[in-house]
Amino acid sequence: MNIHEYQAKAVLREFGVPVPRGIPAFSVEEAEKAAKELGGPVWVVKAQIHAGGRGKAGGVKVVRSIEDVKREAARLLGSTLVTHQTGPHGKEVRRLYIEEGSAIDREYYLSALVDRATSRVAFVTSTEGGVEIEEVARTHPEKILSFSVDPATGFMPHYARRVARALGFGREVAKQAEAVLPKLYAAFLAKDMSMLEINPLVVTKGGELICLDAKIGFDDNALYRHPEIVALRDLTEEDEKEIEASKYDLNYVALDGTIGCMVNGAGLAMATMDIIKLYGMAPANFLDVGGSATKDKVAAAFKIITSDHNVKGILVNIFGGIMKCDVIAEGVVAAVKDVGLRVPLVVRLEGTNVDLGKEIIAKSNLNVTSGDDLDDAAQKIVRAVKEAA
Ligand code: ADP
Ligand code: MG
Repeated sequence: MNIHEYQAKAVLREFGVPVPRGIPAFSVEEAEKAAKELGGPVWVVKAQIHAGGRGKAGGVKVVRSIEDVKREAARLLGSTLVTHQTGPHGKEVRRLYIEEGSAIDREYYLSALVDRATSRVAFVTSTEGGVEIEEVARTHPEKILSFSVDPATGFMPHYARRVARALGFGREVAKQAEAVLPKLYAAFLAKDMSMLEINPLVVTKGGELICLDAKIGFDDNALYRHPEIVALRDLTEEDEKEIEASKYDLNYVALDGTIGCMVNGAGLAMATMDIIKLYGMAPANFLDVGGSATKDKVAAAFKIITSDHNVKGILVNIFGGIMKCDVIAEGVVAAVKDVGLRVPLVVRLEGTNVDLGKEIIAKSNLNVTSGDDLDDAAQKIVRAVKEAA
């Protein structure tokens, strides 16, 4: 789960991390009030969307009067911001963050994430702040320092000294880094974050180290421990199909392609997506219905797939183990009876109760093509979609 910048900064502030003063605003009036409360003389009007790259897209504006705060707030609220992270459709701006302006001397990059290779929290830092770290990794890999923290010792001062050295901090700023970095680590652990990105981390003209931007992703599997974080969820930022899927506890991720996939097991789902690609098309989603799905859950999954207007064909690929083929068949038939079927459907069933499953589909009189194996099924759905186009 992701949260907005202003929420992320509030979380960090709780842990004593230095962030600029700021107030969220949902209307121009609130933006004006916030600006007056902050006092100026420099304000930053920041669009709050779950995507970075706002600065370059005009979503972060430094202004010097209350009038300009109002003007920028009016311009941004309700507008659609297209950044390199939003995709071509962009994201509608519904919230703003009015922040005091900082006199930036230098911008740096700092992030923390769970490194699966070492099973530790890893830090990544670079002198190249304010730009995408992926770009720095490509063009100047030598400008990136990364290390992982030993969980037995926690965040020791020597880690902070390494960061300070890599970023070329003087003594005063290095001292601040020694205080701030353990707090970021503490926040990361306490809140079960999966990713924390400070870009930029800045040193101001006054020599202060502060976090000027903050992006946090939380581990969904640990959210049950953090009702205060769940309360920060902004559903308007999330894909409607994914919200619906989460109600049914389905592992669903919306993608850009045209072939809807319903599969059991994450590995088989990945293989199914791969083979669709192999035959020249792209999957519209990742979906693992899991081993313990009921007919209702399968029907819900099928409806989510058909509600996606990009979907031009559906491939159901089930290898019945714990999951039974007849349950899948019943769920698909129930969903189609409910919402109809406007695109070609190829079903490949194998394993537990496969004959019963095939019988249910045959008796339903649905317009279904059956696939003999994964390869055959993938070719059939790609061909059917091409023919229908
Ligand atoms: P994004 O990463 O989405 O572009 P940022 O919050 O990083 O958004 O802002 C983009 C740039 O705007 C920063 O790199 C910084 O130069 C400037 N900026 C952001 N917040 C402030 C602030 N409070 N004071 C001064 N400049 C800021
Ligand atoms: Mg940023």
